[in-house]
Amino acid sequence: MNQKFYDELRKILPEESIKLNEPMEAHTTFRVGGPADFFVTPGTKDELAGIIARCRAVQMPYYIIGNGSNLLVSDDGYKGVVIQVYKSMNQIRVTGNRIEAQAGALLSGIAARALENGLAGFEFAAGIPGTLGGACVMNAGAYGGEMKNVLKQVTVLSQEGRIFTIPVQKLELGYRTSIIAKNGYIVLEAVIELRNGDAQEIKTLMDELKEKRVSKQPLEFPSAGSTFKRPEGYFAGKLIQDAGLKGFRVGGAQVSEKHCGFVINRDHATAADISELMRQVSEKVYADSKVILEPEVKRLGEF
Ligand SMILES: Cc1cc2nc3c(=O)[nH]c(=O)nc-3n(C[C@H](O)[C@H](O)[C@H](O)COP(=O)(O)OP(=O)(O)OC[C@H]3O[C@@H](n4cnc5c(N)ncnc54)[C@H](O)[C@@H]3O)c2cc1C
Repeated sequence: MNQKFYDELRKILPEESIKLNEPMEAHTTFRVGGPADFFVTPGTKDELAGIIARCRAVQMPYYIIGNGSNLLVSDDGYKGVVIQVYKSMNQIRVTGNRIEAQAGALLSGIAARALENGLAGFEFAAGIPGTLGGACVMNAGAYGGEMKNVLKQVTVLSQEGRIFTIPVQKLELGYRTSIIAKNGYIVLEAVIELRNGDAQEIKTLMDELKEKRVSKQPLEFPSAGSTFKRPEGYFAGKLIQDAGLKGFRVGGAQVSEKHCGFVINRDHATAADISELMRQVSEKVYADSKVILEPEVKRLGEF
């Protein structure tokens, strides 16, 4: 253990916000991943800025996570600091048709507040199991909706410790990309702008979309949602199915039999199983259809 660095972190964070050798399988929806040397949960932007400044000063690698729902962490874990922006930074405030929320707020929580306040336009996000921060970075989307359509602005912390607000037009939100990731910004909070709607209609739509997820997606197994990005003009799941890979397994990892776009942790998979399965799926799909599948899932650590 790097005692000196731990002591530095203790000047910024209370003891309960710092964990050592924390298994990342407990913080990712794939339920795999070895230990992070340091795992910290800042409760304020000052704490977060302090951690980043400390890491940069001593060249300690760091990585931000939300709910880990789009993340594959190596079985060897992460030699550095995993900074989880989640439950300790998850305030949500509704004013008129605007929702201001901290990066750690879950999309489901924001959707519930939208419904409570009769605000329409966020129904698509209710079933995405990520935080607002992760959703801004990924420009998360589903069923024809995407964050780009509802975000007004995002407040970020830069690597140099500057805090500033970026209007949505300048976020370069594309298919699962944004300027946030490219520039290494950390999302602190965001403003979502919705339209006034009818609470019953909002609820009906949320229920319908939930039903679609439950019936089409393998929610009974750990996963990170769609494993690959949708190649232009195709659907990843269909390409994988057409390549004969439905149910294909490597170790405990499997291409879902219910939805081929999902790689699932079927039975005590390791990150290496999942990674190797993804590699083989891409290779076989390319051989079958000459389409390149790119992972949507982010990787952390050595593979
Ligand atoms: C069952 C299931 C269904 C899913 N369905 C969908 C879907 O319909 N549509 C969709 O788009 N996605 C879907 N996903 C994937 C995932 O939920 C989204 O990508 C989500 O936005 C990720 O949020 P997170 O908080 O879990 O981010 P994480 O997985 O923790 O992180 C994802 C990326 O965002 C970065 N990040 C996280 N928080 C911050 C922050 N505060 N500041 C800067 N960077 C940050 C991380 O460094 C990482 O690069 C699904 C996942 C599962 C398991």
